[in-house]
Amino acid sequence: MESQHTISNNSSSNSAVSTPPRPLERGLGGEVFLTPEQITLWQSLLAAARHIVITCHRGPDGDAIGSTTALASWLHRHYPEADIHIVAPNIFPDFLKWIPGANEILIYEGHEEEVRPVVEAADLVIMCDHGELKRMATLGDVVRDHPTPRIMIDHHLNPEPDIADLVISRPDLSSTCEVLLRVMLEIEPHPLTPPVREGSKQCTEVTSGNKSLPLRGDLEGSEATSIYTGMMTDTGAFTYASNRPEIYELISILLSCGIDKDKIYRNIFFTYSPNRMKLMGYLLYVKLDVWKKAHTSIMTFTNAERRRFGALNGDTEGFVNLPLQILGMKLSIFLREDTEHPCIRVSLRSVDDFPCNEMAAEFFGGGGHKNAAGGEFWGTMDEAVALAKKAVQKYMTLLKAE
Ligand code: 5GP
Ligand code: MN
Repeated sequence: MESQHTISNNSSSNSAVSTPPRPLERGLGGEVFLTPEQITLWQSLLAAARHIVITCHRGPDGDAIGSTTALASWLHRHYPEADIHIVAPNIFPDFLKWIPGANEILIYEGHEEEVRPVVEAADLVIMCDHGELKRMATLGDVVRDHPTPRIMIDHHLNPEPDIADLVISRPDLSSTCEVLLRVMLEIEPHPLTPPVREGSKQCTEVTSGNKSLPLRGDLEGSEATSIYTGMMTDTGAFTYASNRPEIYELISILLSCGIDKDKIYRNIFFTYSPNRMKLMGYLLYVKLDVWKKAHTSIMTFTNAERRRFGALNGDTEGFVNLPLQILGMKLSIFLREDTEHPCIRVSLRSVDDFPCNEMAAEFFGGGGHKNAAGGEFWGTMDEAVALAKKAVQKYMTLLKAE
């Protein structure tokens, strides 16, 4: 494996756990996030690991790339003896490539022969931003067949049982990045953890406003940037799934690590190519169908249209949110032909209490969160639209209500 893909450093050992963890008495928002047992298990799994593989779900998004890169950097500082690789099941969109550490990510699909041995050499696998092995597609099969301890760090509902030795799963939180940040902030750095890299700010013993938060972890500027990116992208820039007050305390901590949140916003959202902008105009003008009575909209996107507009992977990211800007809209459905498989990718977005995840599970073999979910349909676009109509019919009472 080329060394540029390896986040490793063979300097002096500091990964031994010499003191037992001291549990926090009070955490952020009054909640202690990790139990003493979880901290002990985390530390013993990591202290024993020499080859760590960090994974995320197929079709990596900002939360997947943000959490895996932040974790890799943090582990690299805390456990410099370990080889650490991030392995993504498939490619991720260009607008995430600037995230610190993203250029080190190994891509499994299309590089199976090269990357499979990296996964099979792992003595610890840390799965970020997904709670089911099948969300890693073929990479999930490799992980399933490789008998090694696993840690899950995630925020999706209903994690698959018994796939990880340590499960840190919090569906009530905005993003995996938020879950990870809270883990990082509660785990005390080993006394020998080297200082942060030159030119990067470090945050320990955090002060937020005039409150001194009883947090112990440390965090470096680039890690804070990755974390903020995931929190921001999974909440539509804090417009949904972001009502818990602690989120803003965490943002305050990230700002004190030196992140430039305005630049992160521009890096993610102001990156349209002329083609993507025109495609957005086309989809809204030509393809948007509003089912008024059901307060629902649907847009479809075929591979023929993809070719016509020269659309790249990720060029439709976020389009599903646009119809929710229509007054009274409760549900937005976006159906797009997959580029690699003969199936239709389904994205659902809603407001308030409409359960996208239930609709995705019932009709499209998927899942997700209440206001943002997805799935797939193996058939033609026309059949997918017909099924979407059926799904809307089933939920009509809920959708119709003013
Ligand atoms: P997107 O619409 O951005 O592809 O997905 C939104 C959310 O839905 C994701 O963050 C993920 O939680 C969930 N999701 C998307 N596709 C699937 C799927 O095929 N299966 C499951 N279980 N969840 C999905
Ligand atoms: Mn996520």
